[in-house]
Amino acid sequence: MKKALLVVDYTVDFVAEDGALTCGMPGIQLESYITALTEKFIEEKEFVVFPVDVHDENDPFHPETKAFPPHNIRGTAGRNLYGTLNTVYEQHKEKIYWMDKTRFSAFAGTDLDMQLRARKITEIHIVGVCTDICVLHTAVDAYNKGYTIVIHEKGVASFNEAGHDWALGHFENTLGATIIR
Ligand code: ZN
Repeated sequence: MKKALLVVDYTVDFVAEDGALTCGMPGIQLESYITALTEKFIEEKEFVVFPVDVHDENDPFHPETKAFPPHNIRGTAGRNLYGTLNTVYEQHKEKIYWMDKTRFSAFAGTDLDMQLRARKITEIHIVGVCTDICVLHTAVDAYNKGYTIVIHEKGVASFNEAGHDWALGHFENTLGATIIR
């Protein structure tokens, strides 16, 4: 079975202590796990995708404008990858598929599904933040498109602990995902 790794929204705004919409410490603690997993997938020549939120400030037509403070604004440092993951990205740019996304799900309005199908990939490993928002919506879309889902518990986090726990249960019990603990 061919597999891909999706590292969702592991950016300064979502992870750093002073990020605009940060998960804080639970997000920061994922750094070494996500970095090591990314390096492993690159070494094994598997498809590695970085779906990264992009917004224009105060976009009146975007549904998130009302719900969240401005984050991951195009061209700002907040959109850079966090910590050692940014270093890995700089080293392996040509082996990583950077994908701008504008909604919670990495499948919404992107060519992710086509990129996966072109490579005959059927199993998707997901890490990143937040467990109960962008990771959740990406997993639901993956489920509806028929992909096998693997969630790495040490690679996902949220600012909402109850939401994080609920989402892990949903992945396993409703989406039939494998949870790597
Ligand atoms: Zn957003």
